[in-house]
Amino acid sequence: MARGKVYLVGAGPGDPELMTVKAKRLLSEADVVLFDRLLSPDMLKGLENAELIDVGKSAGDHKLTQEEINQLLISKAEEGRVVIRLKGGDPYLFGRGGEEALALLEQGIPFEVVPGVTSAIAAPELAGIPVTHRGITSALTIVTGHEEPGKDSPLQWNILAKLNGTLVVLMGVSRLEKNVAALISGGKPTRTPAAIVEKGGWPEQRMISGTLENIAALAKEAQIEPPAILVVGDVVNLAKKLGRKRIAIFRPESQLQESADLALEYGFQPVCAPAITLEKKPLPDNLKMRLDRAACIVFTSANGVVMALENETIRSGLKEKIVFSIGPKTKRALEKHGISSEVPEEYSSEGLEKLLKNRCQNILFLRSAQGSQYLSDDLRKAGLKIDDIPLYDVKGSDDPRLDHLISHAATIDIFAFTSSSTAKYLVKRASVLGREEQLRDAMAKARIAVIGKPTAAELDRLGIRVDITPEQFTFEALLQAVQRYEFQRFE
Ligand code: SAH
Repeated sequence: MARGKVYLVGAGPGDPELMTVKAKRLLSEADVVLFDRLLSPDMLKGLENAELIDVGKSAGDHKLTQEEINQLLISKAEEGRVVIRLKGGDPYLFGRGGEEALALLEQGIPFEVVPGVTSAIAAPELAGIPVTHRGITSALTIVTGHEEPGKDSPLQWNILAKLNGTLVVLMGVSRLEKNVAALISGGKPTRTPAAIVEKGGWPEQRMISGTLENIAALAKEAQIEPPAILVVGDVVNLAKKLGRKRIAIFRPESQLQESADLALEYGFQPVCAPAITLEKKPLPDNLKMRLDRAACIVFTSANGVVMALENETIRSGLKEKIVFSIGPKTKRALEKHGISSEVPEEYSSEGLEKLLKNRCQNILFLRSAQGSQYLSDDLRKAGLKIDDIPLYDVKGSDDPRLDHLISHAATIDIFAFTSSSTAKYLVKRASVLGREEQLRDAMAKARIAVIGKPTAAELDRLGIRVDITPEQFTFEALLQAVQRYEFQRFE
């Protein structure tokens, strides 16, 4: 029987999109895939036809020994199969890929190595740390923080301490304190910037930064777990500018994915935590009469439009009305039904008032039951007749992602509020969980962005400072405003 072949393939740091084109192709052609626990399950999607073998191991808890893995590679290849040995990062950087290659060579089994994006460079990079930077450092040293005890040539930390380039330590979580202490006693200044990047390229990527003096304590406090990388050197400071900021998004499920994608596009790391859910309400019996009476109809959300236009009375009642929508998204939702609408320049009672002046007396709001009262109250004060038909209830959500965010609020750089109810229910939920104080603390240290004036008014009522309000009330405009704000902070 013809011998098979083994490919030693690097899978990159964890984001399936950071696999090479060649890795992707080989995976789709493989008969057998041996992988480690560190790999994201998304990478193995669509490979149902291949035999998938988890040979993963974490420090101290070996599933298969290296010898057993070598034997498995050999026996699968001897069955004439195409075997992929998929490894995190690059196969030849602390991946024991070289050992596997030698074992295959010894048995005369054809093999090929396929390089991968190594976490040693990519994890810091994804956290905003270039491992070299002109004018800061021109050398990079990569070491293991988990030297096998009893080796002939243990790493000389006192010599590493004297190098003034960037030092990257892999597998360094369990011995972090000892390694840092060794650098300090070798003469590395305690104020040297240091950072730990946990799960670089994964959706839950985190970074903590400080100095050699406090990094071990910070890591303990943040409960950093493997896989994580320690970076030591002045390049760490660049992360303040170049790192992706974590932005918390509280929108209801129906808008969450779209908003997260947009946030990514603008260079943020979205953290999705739906704070509200929407529940449709029955419409009142006198709906037709109230529609007939109003000359103008105002929609305040795309969700509202979708729900309202499911109703025939509303659909036909909208003809011959002047229709207003608060924002381009709402306008687009109406356009899908062939209804054109006007958008005020500003999402505020003044904005609406300007638009309505001398055009209608009777105005009907079709919106959520919890829609901002500031808007209608102000318009009433301006002498307009306001009616309000609630289409849906906005309720607080108990989504586990919201609870997770509340317990990790300190890791959020930007809180983005797209409605007053998202802010209200976030604080409410934190209070139910007994973490309101920690949440408020975290918010005081982070930046707070709101989509428009009614949301700003709600935060004011909650006693929370607002830093950023965009000129236009769209989520995209909010992201742009945050981007500008962040850039100026470090100028
Ligand atoms: N061959 C791999 C490294 C294997 S050693 C590579 O080139 O990336 C395993 C160590 O790599 C972990 O202990 C951790 O220090 C580091 N590591 C791997 N993936 C990582 C990731 N996504 N984020 C941070 N560190 C990672």
